[in-house]
Amino acid sequence: MAVGRGIARRDERTLYAEYPFLPGAEALLGAETVSVRSLLEDPAYERARSIGRARVLAAADDPRASRDVAELDAAEPEVRYLSLLFDEIVLASAPTAAGLRRWAVAEAKRAHGRLSSVAVEELAEVAGRLGFPMEARPGDRVALRVVDYLKLAVPIREADYRLARQAVAHGSVVVGRVRAARVLQEAIRTRLAVPVPLAEEVRALVREREAELLATLAERMPAPVPRAGTPAGALRTDLFPPCVRKMRRTLEAGENLSHAGRFALAAFLHRAGADFETIVDAYRGAPDFDESITRYQVEHITHRDGGVGYEPPECDTLRSHGLCVREGDPTAPLPADRARDPRCFDDRLRHPLQYYRWRGGTVVDRGGPDERLGPRPPEEARGTSGSRARSPSTARRE
Ligand code: SF4
Repeated sequence: MAVGRGIARRDERTLYAEYPFLPGAEALLGAETVSVRSLLEDPAYERARSIGRARVLAAADDPRASRDVAELDAAEPEVRYLSLLFDEIVLASAPTAAGLRRWAVAEAKRAHGRLSSVAVEELAEVAGRLGFPMEARPGDRVALRVVDYLKLAVPIREADYRLARQAVAHGSVVVGRVRAARVLQEAIRTRLAVPVPLAEEVRALVREREAELLATLAERMPAPVPRAGTPAGALRTDLFPPCVRKMRRTLEAGENLSHAGRFALAAFLHRAGADFETIVDAYRGAPDFDESITRYQVEHITHRDGGVGYEPPECDTLRSHGLCVREGDPTAPLPADRARDPRCFDDRLRHPLQYYRWRGGTVVDRGGPDERLGPRPPEEARGTSGSRARSPSTARRE
């Protein structure tokens, strides 16, 4: 399949200005060499830094990218590119990847805003440069390889994006401009969500120079906090089971999570000792996030039985809802999340909380450690597959 050829090479500058994450966009700088230190310190790049900071904070506030970065539209292509580079470096130096993931969602959605309204030739050009060749077809449509479509559409949960609902012919999927722009948004998000590799001394320099931005970011996107009364050091997100890590990634990526997934996540976080605000924060990236309704529903899940909360579903139940990812998540940016998890194939494992406990996490109950799950290997894992509660969502209050 040929890569779209509709866009003239003379428009490269415009193309890179609109899509500065494309491979080759560094050509905007010509012969100019910009070191990390100069990007961080040189007064000549203050505008790029200022726009970059605005992009990071806008994404932290709203990963749906509905908040404009006013200066961005008026900025020269070089400044746009450098501001993106600045963001990549700063976010790769942040203590957690949450800011990077949220920024990747917002930047991908910003690009999607343009891609869904441009000629399909431009869309095909961007896709080809990202490694997903598309061919412009008459009638405002494009064709892309089935394998590429599958790769990009898998994280999109809307039923309309399932392969079975697409027009497939001769190994290609033919979709309209809007659908093509949406799957391309995934390609952009995935690309931007991978941290740029930086040496430790570079990360230290960035942390020093951009301490204020990183502190503001941490304030706006607080790290998960254990609730009062739970043991010190509780709430180890790095020890969460693959299914729960995937649920969190789905929401951070601005994707829809099923009601069963939303319920399971809130119930799990509560039993892992997360405080109320941390649980509410987990849903901020959801496309239909509504603060008051989410609070109401999280309260409902966590306040049950004198604050013990609903029991998260067992593995079997999560599996039946398509939420178990023990085989690995091929769309995850980190190798650890893409890999198969052997712990999840242990015959004794019945519950995500049991997994968490096995790995050294603390499961709390009534404010203290829940000893009922037992030490590793546990005698049994509890779990009520039939737990019923409303999931945090924007669904109407019943
Ligand atoms: S086996 Fe259980 S803990 Fe592991 S990913 Fe599946 S549902 Fe989660």
